[in-house]
Amino acid sequence: MNPSEKIWINGQIKLSSESLMFPFSQGLNYGAAIYEGIRFYDTDFGPAIFRLHEHLDRLFYSASVLKMTLHYSKNDLKNAMLDVIKINGLESGYLRPLAFYSEPKMGINIFNSEITVIMPAWPWTEGISEKPVNLKISKYEKTSHKAIDVKAKIAGYYANNLLGFIDAREAGYDGPIFLDSDGFIAEGAVNNIFIIKNGIIYTPTPRNILPGITRDSIIKIAGDLNLEIKECDMKPDFLADADEVFLTGTGIELDAVKNIEGYFENKNERWPITDELSKYFYKITHGRIEKYKKWLTPANTL
Ligand code: PMP
Repeated sequence: MNPSEKIWINGQIKLSSESLMFPFSQGLNYGAAIYEGIRFYDTDFGPAIFRLHEHLDRLFYSASVLKMTLHYSKNDLKNAMLDVIKINGLESGYLRPLAFYSEPKMGINIFNSEITVIMPAWPWTEGISEKPVNLKISKYEKTSHKAIDVKAKIAGYYANNLLGFIDAREAGYDGPIFLDSDGFIAEGAVNNIFIIKNGIIYTPTPRNILPGITRDSIIKIAGDLNLEIKECDMKPDFLADADEVFLTGTGIELDAVKNIEGYFENKNERWPITDELSKYFYKITHGRIEKYKKWLTPANTL
């Protein structure tokens, strides 16, 4: 999937095809970059950004962890999003604000280095996988909250997620599930996990995961469907008699899980609760549930 033709970069609209090479930057060399993944959906009131404020809060939190001063306010970045949506004529899609240390500076000392902020957009209609996924418990452990700030989306951290992804793909699976250093189920490469057993939905505690905004949405909406959610520590054995498992993330929304190598198999291939939540989530993101319209920021307000 290619990004849209026009991109916002440091306050200016440019062509995505214009070279954006920063080969000597600390962003590239040390992963000294922060980013967000945000969706906007086609609604009756035009394209609308889903949970914009939560994404902006997380972006600014990630920036603070890497000691980045972005030189743009949350409102500036919101306007950048509205600009790239409008200028590219998009109805629904994906936004990827990215800020990185961009100076050609040798060494790891990022203090006082220049920062570049970009705002690309991709046209995108629905979730990624129409097919239930097969996962592998990763041979790599999830980087501990004692080693990194797991609540920040810092590019360099994703080396761990990438290794897990490679391990899973090479073994023939769609993706990994990481365990934390205590052996508890943590999360996927870029998504959170939910396990359903006897009508109750379980999800790992936020201690060693990126507590996703989709995860938070699911926790907040479950009660509307009379579903009970519990956050708890779970070892992989907990999966053995689970009824359903699903993943959440901005990109995938909700993905049903068919199999987790050696621990879980959805033999009857039915995901009634996952499907119910997916349908409800779809209505919410498309502005069809009144009380969650507050989660949508209309994009055609300029
Ligand atoms: N965990 C990780 C490590 C991620 O990168 C993501 C994607 N941001 C998620 C979980 C899901 O988060 P969200 O629902 O906010 O996209």
